[in-house]
Amino acid sequence: MLRLPKFEYLSPKSVDQASSLLSLHTGDAKVIAGGTDLLVRMKRREIKPKYLIGLRNIPDLDYVKYEEAGGLRIGALATNNSILNSPLIQKKFYLLTETISKMATPEVRNIGTIVGNLCNAAPSADTAPPLIVLGAKARLTSSKGERIALLEDFFLGPGETILQTGEWVTEIQVPNLTPGTGAAYLKLSRTAMDLAVVGVAVAVRLKGKTCTDVKIALGAVAPTPMRAKRTEEILKGKTIANELIEEASRIASEECKPISDVRGSAEYRREIVRVFTRQAIEQALERAAAA
Ligand SMILES: Cc1cc2nc3c(=O)[nH]c(=O)nc-3n(C[C@H](O)[C@H](O)[C@H](O)COP(=O)(O)OP(=O)(O)OC[C@H]3O[C@@H](n4cnc5c(N)ncnc54)[C@H](O)[C@@H]3O)c2cc1C
Repeated sequence: MLRLPKFEYLSPKSVDQASSLLSLHTGDAKVIAGGTDLLVRMKRREIKPKYLIGLRNIPDLDYVKYEEAGGLRIGALATNNSILNSPLIQKKFYLLTETISKMATPEVRNIGTIVGNLCNAAPSADTAPPLIVLGAKARLTSSKGERIALLEDFFLGPGETILQTGEWVTEIQVPNLTPGTGAAYLKLSRTAMDLAVVGVAVAVRLKGKTCTDVKIALGAVAPTPMRAKRTEEILKGKTIANELIEEASRIASEECKPISDVRGSAEYRREIVRVFTRQAIEQALERAAAA
């Protein structure tokens, strides 16, 4: 591993200051939260920003807040471990606890943030598929103002997001689960602390035996985390039966767009998508029935 290239570290004390610095150094600056993705990419010389805008000294950006009406809000400095260890999230948004328990190591989770995981925009980012099926949104902030974007619209390609020049993410918002909803995330990786070869998240709402709503998102099998909308259509409004789940899983393996790389071949990934989609739907249905 090479040494880090030279950069200047800027340490804003407020959200406004961070936004001003980002627009002042347009194109030359990167935001740094935990640095567990960014510093590795810099050491590999994949990127060479002149300035790093550190968020650490902005007070109160590491929050995890919940309101009955508005749902969950996660600040830009909330670490993956703070999400994992939150009793509130375990109770109300177990899908996130389940997901982060399958990510990285305790040391890396202690530094890395959920917002950093999303902004890094890796197709394999573990937190993306679950947050997409939960209908999460991102608050995008710049010196010109703020806007809210659905997370499923956030990713444009590997390492690319809809963030415009001078914009950064200050918060993730997760709405409450509708009663009768169950959700699950399955991940296949080569070792316990490796990136996903395939990730499948499902959130399904049941009324009796009928699936009244469903969202399915896939990770590591397309240039971005993706909604599997054709698969969802197979299940929506139908009485759930084994054949239907099999059919949906087959469609998921058709509609994903995997590549072959060091972690697995495209064919292998398609097959895992088929198997995991079935298993994730079954697990989400069990949880919906118990909800
Ligand atoms: C050993 C190891 C194991 C790992 N295992 C996994 C794994 O299993 N699953 C997984 O998904 N990831 C894994 N990762 C990747 C990484 O730990 C996570 O993606 C982590 O959540 C990134 O958060 P961070 O705060 O460190 O981001 P940083 O490295 O600080 O930032 C990542 C990117 O996001 C940008 N950024 C950060 N915050 C903001 C913001 N608020 N607004 C705009 N842009 C921002 C940065 O400019 C950078 O481009 C692993 C990493 C390591 C080193």
